[in-house]
Amino acid sequence: MDCLICKLIKGEIPAHKIYEDEDFFAFLDINPSAPGHTVVVPKKHVSTIFELDENDLGKLFKKVAEIAMHIKDSTLPATGFNIGVNHWKTAGQQIEHLHVHIIPRVAGDGGGAIQSIVANKSDESLESICDKIKIN
Ligand code: ZN
Repeated sequence: MDCLICKLIKGEIPAHKIYEDEDFFAFLDINPSAPGHTVVVPKKHVSTIFELDENDLGKLFKKVAEIAMHIKDSTLPATGFNIGVNHWKTAGQQIEHLHVHIIPRVAGDGGGAIQSIVANKSDESLESICDKIKIN
């Protein structure tokens, strides 16, 4: 399989590794949005959260939380985080190996909230949209 992230995990491509254990690998994003921009991945090759079971998904996000708190407690300035996943190409996923971005934030860094990345406004009512997507 020709997966960049699998190659990083195997050490075939050098990475600025932050953390590694049996199941997870975390490294600095090669094109960081902010100092300390870290990517956390499961070692198991899956492309999205939709392929992980409840246990593996829980462990992944627990690890993401631990790493974010570790960054917060480091000497790197971080007084907030945006933590997120780009799912599928439409949403900007460039590598088809699930990876969770931890982007440290500081006051005045020029960034926005996670909901500011899309501005696809609609005239459809919230009630109508709710009827389409609600889970019964
Ligand atoms: Zn992979």
